[in-house]
Amino acid sequence: MPTTQEQITAVMQRIYNNGMTTLSGGNISIRNDDGSTWITPSGVDKGTLRPEDIVLINTDGSTQGLHRPSSEYPFHLAVYAARPEIRAVVHAHPPALVAFSISRTIPDTRIMPKARDICGPVGYSAYAIPGSTALADNIGRRFAEGYNLVLMENHGIVSAGHTVQEAFERMETLDFCARLTIRGNQLGNVRLLTDQQIDNARQNQTGELPEFDHSTIDAKERSLRRDMCVFIHRSCTRQLATSTEGTFSARLDENSFLITPYGVDRAMMGENDLVCIKDGTRERGKNPSHSVLLHRMIYERHSDINAIIMAHPPCVLAFGVTGIPYDTKTIPETYIMLRNIPLLPFGSQFIDREKTAGLISSKTPVVICENDCVIVTGKNILEAFDRLEVAEYSAQAIVNAGLVGGVKHIAEHDIAAINRTFNIS
Ligand SMILES: [Zn+2]
Repeated sequence: MPTTQEQITAVMQRIYNNGMTTLSGGNISIRNDDGSTWITPSGVDKGTLRPEDIVLINTDGSTQGLHRPSSEYPFHLAVYAARPEIRAVVHAHPPALVAFSISRTIPDTRIMPKARDICGPVGYSAYAIPGSTALADNIGRRFAEGYNLVLMENHGIVSAGHTVQEAFERMETLDFCARLTIRGNQLGNVRLLTDQQIDNARQNQTGELPEFDHSTIDAKERSLRRDMCVFIHRSCTRQLATSTEGTFSARLDENSFLITPYGVDRAMMGENDLVCIKDGTRERGKNPSHSVLLHRMIYERHSDINAIIMAHPPCVLAFGVTGIPYDTKTIPETYIMLRNIPLLPFGSQFIDREKTAGLISSKTPVVICENDCVIVTGKNILEAFDRLEVAEYSAQAIVNAGLVGGVKHIAEHDIAAINRTFNIS
């Protein structure tokens, strides 16, 4: 179990590496049982923060450590004073959330099914000078009203939770909603989910399967577990998945495959967290992703598909939230790798599994599920991940092309020539 100071540095590192803060911006604190508070220091590079750099603020206001505490400590203490059950506060200036902060609007979490459950309602606090008691009062008041996430006017975001992980996940999810909304608005009109659609998604997801005893893991399975973890971690650092969203699976043999568990942080996923599914039963004591039934159906129907990724890359999903078709005839590589990408109505992946599994094939390796995810398949995990990256980078190019003159697609006769040259049917 990492120490409190190690937990703070790990999350700060992640925020910095994900581009959610600059080296001087952002601060994190954790409250101890005795009412004292660990907090990140002032004026220390957030990219190279060490556990010994974290400062302790005692209950009498005195401090201990190598540095001065973050100058924003007054609002951290105000949040703890407002809500005794809160044990961690995360503050940062992620560019997408700052875009909302300076335009004084709140990102709508109804853009994705799980976001509202993770974030809860988002509060808004009026501007005040950084480090001031006025700022602490404004923020403390919003947390006293019950918000766990507060957008700070002309500043950034404050997120809180029972743990620093929970506070981070809330901020990360809201940041994802913000990035997706911005990308969607660049492309067209963003469509939000209804309460009914969000409830349906919650009720229709299940990973309930009978259990089996998975006593031995052979070398092949061990190696596949290792490979999957490499790509799962990479999907987080490249912001193609978040800590709470993104499902990876890979086939072991005709009747079994490995899949990511439900509720485990993707960035921290270990080889032994992955769940083996065999003949429709799950490895004892582990809970597979709630999309396990769809993965199983795809493997059953398509012997040439050996890896499936359900991910949340913001540019691809810009098509998913606007309903605009993703035309892959932009550059040859994009068309060859992705072929045509169908856009499926929201809920297809859990309401209409049979149809969705039937639609996916080696000729239609990628589908977008409206307001939810992209499903990418491949003959192995490397090919599926490659497709995921190509899909996201190409989508980014299309969204950006809209700002520099619009996309001109490859002509049909040139596509016919690509089909002939690369044996595409
Ligand atoms: Zn700040």
